[in-house]
Amino acid sequence: MSVNRNGLLAVGVFLIGVAVSLVAMRFTDRIQERGLRGEFQHLAGLHAASFEREIEVNLEASRDLQRFLQAAPGISRGQFERYATPMLRQLSSVHVLEWVRRVEHGQRAGFEAAVRAGDQPDFQISERDAQGRLRPASPRDEYFPIHYLAPMEENKAALGFDLGSDPLRRATLEQARDSGKLTASANVFLVQDAVRKPSLLVFAPLYGGLATTPAQRRAALQGFAVGVFYLDDIFQDAMRKSHLGLGDVSLRIREVAALERDELLFAHLPEEWEQSRADLEYRHSLKVAGRDWTFSARPTQAYLVAHQESLSWSVLLAGLVISAVLAAFLAHLLNRQQSIRQQVLDRTRALAASESLNRAVVDTAVNPIITMNEHGTVRTFNPAAERAFGYRAEEVIGRNVNMLMPEPYHSAHDGYLSRYLASGDPHIIGIGREVVARRKDGSLFPIDLAVGESRMEGDILFVGMIVDTTLRKEAEQSLRDSKEQAERANRMKSEFVNMMSHELRTPLTVILGYLPLLKKAEAMPPAEMIVDMARDIQASGDHLLHLINDLLDLSKIEAGKLDLRPEVFALADVVSEVLDRLRLKAQERGITLVNEAGALRVRADPLRLRQIFINLVGNAIKFTEGGNITVKARAIDGHAEISVADTGIGIPEADLPEIFDKFRQVDSSSTRKAGGTGLGLAITRSLVELHGGSITAHSRPGAGSTFTFTLPHPEE
Ligand code: ADP
Repeated sequence: MSVNRNGLLAVGVFLIGVAVSLVAMRFTDRIQERGLRGEFQHLAGLHAASFEREIEVNLEASRDLQRFLQAAPGISRGQFERYATPMLRQLSSVHVLEWVRRVEHGQRAGFEAAVRAGDQPDFQISERDAQGRLRPASPRDEYFPIHYLAPMEENKAALGFDLGSDPLRRATLEQARDSGKLTASANVFLVQDAVRKPSLLVFAPLYGGLATTPAQRRAALQGFAVGVFYLDDIFQDAMRKSHLGLGDVSLRIREVAALERDELLFAHLPEEWEQSRADLEYRHSLKVAGRDWTFSARPTQAYLVAHQESLSWSVLLAGLVISAVLAAFLAHLLNRQQSIRQQVLDRTRALAASESLNRAVVDTAVNPIITMNEHGTVRTFNPAAERAFGYRAEEVIGRNVNMLMPEPYHSAHDGYLSRYLASGDPHIIGIGREVVARRKDGSLFPIDLAVGESRMEGDILFVGMIVDTTLRKEAEQSLRDSKEQAERANRMKSEFVNMMSHELRTPLTVILGYLPLLKKAEAMPPAEMIVDMARDIQASGDHLLHLINDLLDLSKIEAGKLDLRPEVFALADVVSEVLDRLRLKAQERGITLVNEAGALRVRADPLRLRQIFINLVGNAIKFTEGGNITVKARAIDGHAEISVADTGIGIPEADLPEIFDKFRQVDSSSTRKAGGTGLGLAITRSLVELHGGSITAHSRPGAGSTFTFTLPHPEE
């Protein structure tokens, strides 16, 4: 289909080429024609000039003779001939030179007699009769006989002939006489010639006195110097002397006055004239001694053949060849172009497919991918990057990528790039790094950044692949934390085992230490001592029991097996119950117990709350000597805030954070004196937290301690 179209196009181009060639051919034709015309006109002009010059040179002979006769009016025949003969030899086309006298009728007889008396015994003034035979001239007012002539031999017959007897000659003669100028006759045939050859008679008048007006000239006229020329000779001479190609032109010279008679003065190659191209004819008018002639020239066939080159045909042929080549080339080009277009189409499709595949990969990539140019200007920003940074792609594309970095990267980034481009020194490019990125909201997050470089047609494209390592970092941290925790738990477990063995061994040592003393009935210690021993064994047993109960409680709580049975009740009731139980012990140490719980009601498991108070107030009693222990309560922020404050020895600040840990006791003599398991506060904290509350301790050594815990406020 398109191959056909290409073919049509090529044919179209060929046809246009043909048309252009034809036009060019015509154009060339016209130019050539103009050239031909110009050239021929020039050639013919040269011929005409040659003719003019030749005629002029010949006419000059008449004028020279006139001057000679004027200077020597009374010359003899011999003198005349001596003058004329060399001149005739020199000018080949001057046929005859004559001295024609004016003889008035009254002088005729005397004149004839004088000439006869000289060397012309037969001389008479003569004329022609109707048959052309010579006879003595009829009587007239004046006669113009040829007196002298040269060359003599062949022209003898003309001697004495009265030029005035012939009307044609007479008219010319009178015109010469009146004008005083050189005057030529029309085409005449000479009297003496056997063969009639067209001749030209040129009259130069001679006057014997003042001759300015026609009347004076008539009166003063003495005669004429006459030159006779054979026209053919003049023209042949002109042709010969012109040195121009004789075969190139067909010529005609005609008398203007005789144009209608179409009488030729001269014709060169007349047979060519009619066949030649009239449109190229050259015409020039010649003024010859008072006569108007027309010089016409036409090119001969030979000239036309030689000058009409077939340039226009060459142009046409060249045009056709060029058109054909052009059309073929175009067809080839179009076919090539089409196949290239097809290739481009195929590749574009493939490219689009790969582009959309790439886009799909980039768009669906889980990790952010950012591309930028060598100035750090962002070119693409994939959806994962949008999610990670909180920016939409259009907010980032076209801006400097450093907007995604916190200081010091933000300021340093342009420097990295220019350094890399200048020196190839990679800071990040080609290497993966852990850096920190900044989201739109200003928050920072750790990333692994890998930057690749791609060069496309001189443009550099940097591709940044980003992995948000927040989760990994958190996981790493929690792993570290749990490892630490596990290690601590392990450590605590060993400590616990150590502690337990110690705690259990101490009372058991007491108990087992007494028993051998009581095993032998025959060697019983005294009764008071047994009582003391029984008291110590009792105390150690109690301590063991206490320890084991605490441990059981703690393990129950930690195993999540302790179930609370919450109730709503007045806090003050539980507080006074506990204080009552402990009052005796307090009094022994000079301590006053104060219940300021007020009317606050709480939701709690009363059994466990009691245990909390026993621990806290019990500790306070242990570490106080004289003073007060006050229990207070208030409602705050939807919670019940309860405190147990004493005026005891206090806890060093460094120990405060650890007193809630298991088996943790402030290492001092008072503690050791006070005994205890080191589990009380751990159990207390677990119980408070089991209720959804929290517990803190404030203390100043020497000034007392305050333990404050919260419980949920009951919704009543
Ligand atoms: P113990 O059974 O040894 O008392 P606790 O867990 O109840 O164990 O207490 C841990 C440690 O905290 C005590 O050994 C003591 O050093 C310190 N302690 C607790 N309560 C008080 C208090 N009211 N005044 C001073 N020290 C206290």
